[in-house]
Amino acid sequence: MRKKFIAGNWKLYKNVSEAVAFAKDLKARVAGIDKVQIALAPPFTAIHAIAAELKGSNIEIAGQDCFWENEGAFTGEVGPAMLREAGATQVIIGHSERRQYFGETDATVNKKLKAALAAGLGAILCVGESLAEREAGKTFEVVSVQTRGGLDGLNEQQMQSVVLAYEPVWAIGTGRTASPQQAQEVHAALRKLLAELFGAQTADSIRIQYGGSVKPENVAELMAQADIDGALVGGASLKADSFEKLVKF
Ligand code: PEP
Repeated sequence: MRKKFIAGNWKLYKNVSEAVAFAKDLKARVAGIDKVQIALAPPFTAIHAIAAELKGSNIEIAGQDCFWENEGAFTGEVGPAMLREAGATQVIIGHSERRQYFGETDATVNKKLKAALAAGLGAILCVGESLAEREAGKTFEVVSVQTRGGLDGLNEQQMQSVVLAYEPVWAIGTGRTASPQQAQEVHAALRKLLAELFGAQTADSIRIQYGGSVKPENVAELMAQADIDGALVGGASLKADSFEKLVKF
């Protein structure tokens, strides 16, 4: 049985005091839930403060990105070991906004992912096609290239710390969700690819989250699909009451 994993990606929202107040509120709302893994990905600046607030709770903290080195002359970057020390246990890698606005490639994503795992973080690898790619019938080809590239050189044991997130770019922040059938189709294809790369047993154990306008109204149907093992959520993770509903789908 794969434990469902609901993670909130706050993007460039919430200062330290807003983040701490949210963490305090959410902690009470989801206390005692252990059937679902829960994580919040705040901006870097809030990680340390909310880690203190969430200590001993069932809510983990994820970075939204990290660099592939732990130190050096890399102005503006944050290394995975720093994230870990600040209180994160997970990190999102290769989000489509990173790929789109910050020039991330499958090669840089792969370096970041390996560095994150080496620092002891779990990694959420995001893949997903644009609308033009979907309309051109290239969805599987695109997510397969991203998955192969992102996971290049990893072994079965390392894969135990990796979660895949299928996030169709056309569904992120648009209010347009993939239908449960559309999402399931891609998730099943991704699991088949994972079996090809790492064997059936490993593929069976890896969680694949869906992301793209997940809301309290559509979460249950998505989570009911055979190969959907959780959600990576942007907009609906910014309010404690809606994130609580997602966790309690
Ligand atoms: C995301 O940021 O990964 C995301 C899925 O955003 P939203 O839920 O707002 O579409």
